[in-house]
Amino acid sequence: MSVPAVIPPGSTVGILGGGQLGRMIAIAAAQLGYRTHILAPEATGPATEVAAEWTQGRFDDPDAVRAFAAAVDVVTYEFENVDPHAVAYLAGRVPVRPSTLSLDISRYRPNEKTWVAELGGRTADWRPVDGLAALEAALAEVGTPAILKTTLFGYDGKGQARIDTPAEAAGAWRSIGAPSPIAAGVPAIVEARVDFLAEFSVVLARGGDGATAVWDVAENVHRDGILHTSTVPARAEILAQADEAVALTRALAERLGHIGVMTAEFFATADGPVFNEMAPRVHNSGHWTIEGAETSQFENHLRAICGLPLGPTARTGAGVTMENLVGAEADRWPALAAETGAHVHLYGKREGRPGRKMGHVTRVRR
Ligand code: AMP
Repeated sequence: MSVPAVIPPGSTVGILGGGQLGRMIAIAAAQLGYRTHILAPEATGPATEVAAEWTQGRFDDPDAVRAFAAAVDVVTYEFENVDPHAVAYLAGRVPVRPSTLSLDISRYRPNEKTWVAELGGRTADWRPVDGLAALEAALAEVGTPAILKTTLFGYDGKGQARIDTPAEAAGAWRSIGAPSPIAAGVPAIVEARVDFLAEFSVVLARGGDGATAVWDVAENVHRDGILHTSTVPARAEILAQADEAVALTRALAERLGHIGVMTAEFFATADGPVFNEMAPRVHNSGHWTIEGAETSQFENHLRAICGLPLGPTARTGAGVTMENLVGAEADRWPALAAETGAHVHLYGKREGRPGRKMGHVTRVRR
């Protein structure tokens, strides 16, 4: 397969996944003159409603994946829990950006932590666990309080259990669904709970030519394991550690040969930044860039995967705050729509279940 250096406007960008990240990639694509084609299992969803084309099908449905591959010029993804076989099949037919390596490293917690350690970064002290006996032995080493996490399919605090005392090990193991062994690797890890001052993230875009663009680090506040707010500029304690975290994220992107946006989440601690996890994609903590930066994470993701120069990432105002609208919080839309300067984003989800991200609102302080 010969890969063109530039995939020009008018081409079709294929997106694996039909959620709000796909929706915002598709909106940015339309502005740049690209068509988008979604592959998602659901009959309808946030992304399909704004894309030119969509194929309904599971990521492990060969017919759906084949039809999708034939219809697109480049493939990207809006979440990392896509079927690796489908991605490998696609990569043999059409450029997949970011590559399968970025996907493989970031979707499996032990891989990302090992890579970070090899690059000189710090993570929480962690151990692989494949059963209750291993969990109890690991807890004796990393200590309590700790957090048990499934190695795959974790997001928004799902697949996690907090362990305050060793006696809670069995309950924690049951609560994450006592995951069965997986084909290659361990089903879970346990890690020491990090005593952090604050949480922040680095969102970075990297082009195929190796150029990188990074936005201001965002200070993130979570509620019930779900992102609540992202604020830039972050407070001084975070800014003092930002350069180190950005350097590590850039080194990760370089080593992966990453093309597109990637995000790394950190804890700011008294001893410096501690890497938590990475996502090989646009991220909720980068939504503020739509109105708060000269080029949004979505536009630069498209620029990177299509071989266009990256756009500048400077802030458009003195400060920016993005607030997620989770579950019934989206019912506040009439008041938000009436608020001057509040940029309201609603994802078009029909059903507002608790814990479901329904939209967000961004406020730029001039
Ligand atoms: P994660 O899915 O790994 O991003 O975890 C979701 C959230 O749980 C994080 O943003 C933190 O607020 C919290 N958390 C995860 N791991 C740790 C840890 N080792 N120590 C303290 N808090 C954590």
